[in-house]
Amino acid sequence: MVDAQLRGRDVVDERVLAAMERVPREFFVPENLRDRAYDDAALPIGDGQTISQPYMVARICEALSLTGPEHVLDVGTGSGYQAAVIAELAEEVDTIERIPELAERARANLEAAGYGRVSVHVGDGSRGLPERAPFDAIAVAAAAPELPRTLYKQLEPRGRLVVPVGRRGMQRLEVIVRSPEGPAVLRSVPCRFVPLLGEEGF
Ligand code: SAH
Repeated sequence: MVDAQLRGRDVVDERVLAAMERVPREFFVPENLRDRAYDDAALPIGDGQTISQPYMVARICEALSLTGPEHVLDVGTGSGYQAAVIAELAEEVDTIERIPELAERARANLEAAGYGRVSVHVGDGSRGLPERAPFDAIAVAAAAPELPRTLYKQLEPRGRLVVPVGRRGMQRLEVIVRSPEGPAVLRSVPCRFVPLLGEEGF
């Protein structure tokens, strides 16, 4: 997976590649799809949601530019896979999911895969996680109609927010840095994510 789908494309950050090599993705897909765990695709995880394609997880993690000591918020826990990859790259990880059943399953997946230190929360992540803010970086695995202001405000100065922004079905993955002049958009690439629901979502 790492060589063919990530290195073979444009993922170059060696820490991210190593992290994706370590996290056992089969722990995060439903039992009947285990043989497809390393496919180059998003896969259904129940409740109408998906575990993201490995390539998009790598792109998001690379864009977060983590070096090790960071406190990160992962919005849209889903299966917990992306939170596990982030846990390989940062010190402390909080993740929030709006569907309680998914959060419960993600907690079990993370525990089984050896990432029990990731804190899984249930709630509307479009509003961030005020009680745990500020964060050095925030990753959003669902598409927002516009830059979620509250998430931006929960960043440390120079903190990074990586979020798909656009309409349902077609977005751009934006990399935003908190700066004294306001949100600085570093770059963006086309992508396609399930919608971020909730107060600052769709
Ligand atoms: N990162 C996940 C991908 C999950 S897909 C993984 O690696 O498996 C996106 C997830 O975002 C879905 O589980 C969906 O329920 C969740 N979601 C959508 N809107 C949300 C919101 N406002 N707050 C928290 N989670 C949300």
